[in-house]
Amino acid sequence: MIAQLGLSIPTVLINIMILLFFVRNSFYFFLKKQVMTEQELAIAMKDYFPEDCSLDIAHIVLQYNIVFKIVRPRKVFLGTCYKKKNIITVNANLPPFLFLLVTLHEIGHFISLKKYGTDIKPHGKEWQDEYVKLLKHFLYKGVFPIKLAERVMQEIIRPKATCSKELMEMTANV
Ligand SMILES: [Zn+2]
Repeated sequence: MIAQLGLSIPTVLINIMILLFFVRNSFYFFLKKQVMTEQELAIAMKDYFPEDCSLDIAHIVLQYNIVFKIVRPRKVFLGTCYKKKNIITVNANLPPFLFLLVTLHEIGHFISLKKYGTDIKPHGKEWQDEYVKLLKHFLYKGVFPIKLAERVMQEIIRPKATCSKELMEMTANV
């Protein structure tokens, strides 16, 4: 087959070697691009989050090997979680506190799906538990201004699947 195409065996071998060389190098480049330290990731994301939050998020993202994507705003979703591909997306135009809350909502999905599998309800008890744990972490850390902290307390008592207009307005005005 090869001979019919007019290529000699040595030429084919050399071509394969050249190809392997490029594949190997691009693979290394890919790996190099992907691996960021916690600090680097935190710095890259810091403008999207309220102060003192991005390092904690970077820690979780790396711990769970999440591909965290900040994306062009979509009308229907503020954020999404594609567990199969390890991807979480959050709209880039959200104000910092809403950006944080949406990120925690999606990480809650990710962790609950990872722990309990895909048979769980999207906003069932498993998701609520993980989301509340994350909210408490940031609440105790003191990152929320007092009024928003009170609102986050309500969310901890009764986690909501959707983001209310009131919460959107509150976070827009911080
Ligand atoms: Zn959700």
